[in-house]
Amino acid sequence: MINEHLDVVIIGGGPAGLNAALILGRARKNVVVIDEGRPRNAVTRKTHGFLTRDGISPSEFREIAKKEISAYPSVFFVADTVVSVAGTDGHFQITTALGNTFTCKKLLLAIGMRDLPLDIPGLTDVYGKSAFVCPYCDGWELRDEPLVIINKGEGLMHFAPVISGWTNRLTVCTNGPDGLTEDQREELQLHQVPIFDSPIQYIDSKDGIVRQVVLEDGTKIPCRGIFFKPDLAIGSDLPQAIGCNVGEFGTVEIDSFGKTSIPGVYSAGDAASRMHQAIAAASMGSLAAAVINNELNLEAWRKTDEQEWMKR
Ligand SMILES: Cc1cc2nc3c(=O)[nH]c(=O)nc-3n(C[C@H](O)[C@H](O)[C@H](O)COP(=O)(O)OP(=O)(O)OC[C@H]3O[C@@H](n4cnc5c(N)ncnc54)[C@H](O)[C@@H]3O)c2cc1C
Repeated sequence: MINEHLDVVIIGGGPAGLNAALILGRARKNVVVIDEGRPRNAVTRKTHGFLTRDGISPSEFREIAKKEISAYPSVFFVADTVVSVAGTDGHFQITTALGNTFTCKKLLLAIGMRDLPLDIPGLTDVYGKSAFVCPYCDGWELRDEPLVIINKGEGLMHFAPVISGWTNRLTVCTNGPDGLTEDQREELQLHQVPIFDSPIQYIDSKDGIVRQVVLEDGTKIPCRGIFFKPDLAIGSDLPQAIGCNVGEFGTVEIDSFGKTSIPGVYSAGDAASRMHQAIAAASMGSLAAAVINNELNLEAWRKTDEQEWMKR
């Protein structure tokens, strides 16, 4: 089955790729999901905010998803990394790091985003345990606690008011020049949010739980959690290699149906959105899968029409 000309290859087996696989399996399409297994949320213990799965571990989420999808016999999983894509709509050729090759009619890029290396000493130790990137994912667990926000400039002026909905015990560390206007500094002071500009020397923690943020000027800021914005890159350079338009935030440009600028290539999940949440990624995967399926069915329908006309 796997050596056939497949209907769809899905690159990436996170919530976006898995939900797409579920929909396409139920639509009786021959699908291979190729996943190298490096999801961005691997650092975290629990996924929150996914209805019926609130608090589930990322690995258990994937296991349950695969078990559910295994009910549909036309979907296969391959643990591998896609290294190249050639061809055009209807005839894509996919090559993997282990030397596997697949051909397919349509391609779904559900490759997620990845964090660039964290440059603050000690931050890796607490990331996903008491330092987080999204208050909707992890704000509830840190409600009313003293928190440090590491951010600067416009990003900070968005982040601080949002996080203030979970706690009013906020301190800002800009980790160097803050990029704030006088008005923005005044705004933070008005909301009793202290701002420290000194570079961060290190994050002091025990067993992944932050105890204090230590600045180069000697200041120590005790806290129970951190919110920060890491620099991100798209999960793979395949979109650029294929020629897909990529937007200013590094995500694949798609229309409201998940179509990229390249015919036959779709994208879903974090890789194509600035809203990084598992349920949002799953929803995008579901939509893209339905659109892909509609297109495949329509193409097959029209081909039959043409053949019938030729016979007459
Ligand atoms: C610390 C942290 C905590 C989070 N907590 C939550 C939370 O509580 N609730 C929530 O809703 N969201 C949370 N998120 C966000 C959530 O993890 C993402 O929104 C979601 O995983 C995106 O799903 P995705 O399918 O788009 O990508 P991913 O889950 O990242 O999956 C993409 C997959 O594609 C694979 N891949 C990439 N390139 C290739 C290639 N060339 N070949 C083969 N495979 C490839 C990757 O290895 C990866 O397995 C958190 C994120 C982080 C970083």
